[in-house]
Amino acid sequence: SLLLQPNQREGKEKNIYQGTTSEQPTVADLRKAIESRAISVVYQPKIFCKTGTLAGFEALARWCLDGKPIPPDRFIPLAEESGLIDDLTRLIIEQALKWLAAVSEEGESNLFAGIGQAHLSINISARTLTNAPLFQWVVSLCDELAIDHHRLIFELTESSAMGDTVTALDTLTRLRMQGFKLSIDDFGTGFSSMVQLVRLPFSEIKVDKSFVMDIGASAESRAVTRSIVDLGSSLGLLSTAEGVEDQDTLDYLKTLGCDLAQGYFISRPLKDNDVVDWYRQREGE
Ligand code: C2E
Ligand code: CA
Ligand code: CA
Ligand code: CA
Repeated sequence: SLLLQPNQREGKEKNIYQGTTSEQPTVADLRKAIESRAISVVYQPKIFCKTGTLAGFEALARWCLDGKPIPPDRFIPLAEESGLIDDLTRLIIEQALKWLAAVSEEGESNLFAGIGQAHLSINISARTLTNAPLFQWVVSLCDELAIDHHRLIFELTESSAMGDTVTALDTLTRLRMQGFKLSIDDFGTGFSSMVQLVRLPFSEIKVDKSFVMDIGASAESRAVTRSIVDLGSSLGLLSTAEGVEDQDTLDYLKTLGCDLAQGYFISRPLKDNDVVDWYRQREGE
């Protein structure tokens, strides 16, 4: 089985937020933040393992309350529980698509050609899949900004793909038919069976960072990572490893034939204005 105990493996990530507030933001705080558009987006690059060239970016939500960053692992569940998640998702998508359109235009001047081709991954919560109007809105926003559907990847966790209400399945199928791509996030930590992967039209499988970050230390994590990459390739999916923190891990992924890599070793999530600088520096090396 690919399923190991995820909660025992999440320990390392917690460190990022050491020193941040331990106060729990309220629903009212969150609603205010969404209404005043105080939640922003950062972009984490993904590269092709084989060539090291840019493949795309994952959009990640950021919120500072009274100057202190609140981790997404805290405010995303709050948004889900309080029914604010769809408003938050719209806010993220709007910022991210406008950014992608702007940066792609710069790319057309040929200086940053790679960015002009890059894909953009957006995290989608399970319950948003039942909101068909939201995805119609995404389609019109893409039209307005002249963004090809195939450049967008919607990332879903195993559990969200599992809640196979008729509407959710319908939304996923429709998105795929409209040319959007679907990715299964955090693979190996949920409780879905492989059946979901075959049944739903996914393009990408993401190996959860809890395994990837452990590659150097644990034969078990190496085995799980290898199995997921192999599963992806036999199903014709791109495999992505997230949480790549060092060169050895990247080298190991390369030997496995893993397609894409994402992690602090490649880049931290970047503010919109810092992406072009990061790209220029990387290409210059
Ligand atoms: P995720 O979708 O699995 O995103 C990857 C997380 O791993 C991000 O955490 C990213 O900053 C972190 N990460 C990337 N590379 C490394 C690395 O090398 N080492 C370590 N330790 N961590 C790495 P982040 O930004 O804190 O987000 C946490 C989770 O919150 C995300 O996990 C996702 O489930 C959720 N999230 C973030 N933004 C959004 C959003 O806009 N919408 C929804 N629905 N969920 C979001
Ligand atoms: Ca994700
Ligand atoms: Ca993930
Ligand atoms: Ca995660």
